[in-house]
Amino acid sequence: MQNIQQTIERNLFRINNLIAEYEQTYQRPSGSVRLLAASKAQSIKKIRCAFNAGQTLFGENYVQEAIKKMLALNDLPIEWHFIGRIQRNKTKKIAEHFSWVHSVATTDIAERLNAQRPIDHPPLNICIEVNISHEETKAGIAINHVLELADVCLRLPQLKLRGLMAIPAPFVDFAQNRREFHKLQVIQNVLRDHGIEIDTLSIGMSHDFEAAIAEGATIVRIGTAIFGARRE
Ligand SMILES: *Cc1c(COP(=O)(O)O)cnc(C)c1O
Repeated sequence: MQNIQQTIERNLFRINNLIAEYEQTYQRPSGSVRLLAASKAQSIKKIRCAFNAGQTLFGENYVQEAIKKMLALNDLPIEWHFIGRIQRNKTKKIAEHFSWVHSVATTDIAERLNAQRPIDHPPLNICIEVNISHEETKAGIAINHVLELADVCLRLPQLKLRGLMAIPAPFVDFAQNRREFHKLQVIQNVLRDHGIEIDTLSIGMSHDFEAAIAEGATIVRIGTAIFGARRE
């Protein structure tokens, strides 16, 4: 097997080059798309390798697993993002340990994160997760309730509303992927019409980040294309 450090370095190099290429192709400003390494079920060692290769943003889905990793990697200035489903009894730990939460989908969770964010921490950056493909099983708030939740979040001083996140149904078709992602730009425009400015669209994973960048992604969340198949 090839050295893990080299493999991860090569993968990151390739993905960062693709991101730069897609920014050009789709007339996005150079450097407008940030790469978040989705490291759930990936080892502490692999995260350290990715950091050594220049990656600083990491996303985790499970609170216990994430806190274990944070402790083991606390010598590194990593920016930790929570991207998983939020269980109500885990909001305190999330509010204490993360810089960003991408998966806020209810008023209740927003209010808990706000109340539990330590006052000596900067406001917690949040994205509202939107169920753009109307899937019953999917997390996220329905499109027609986003404005309401955005209004609530704006009034919570320990939260900073940054944008929208979505995980669309997995289509194989590029054009269909783009149509799904495009819904977030439509919502962003509705928010703007109501005086709400956001700067983040958190969309795109290993298999669909080109379509996401074409539709305005500012953060792509990529796991397996960096680290390989998930293990733990
Ligand atoms: C796991 C995960 C990703 C990354 O998925 P890959 O297909 O491995 O790139 C992105 N976003 C969320 C919310 C995830 O849970």
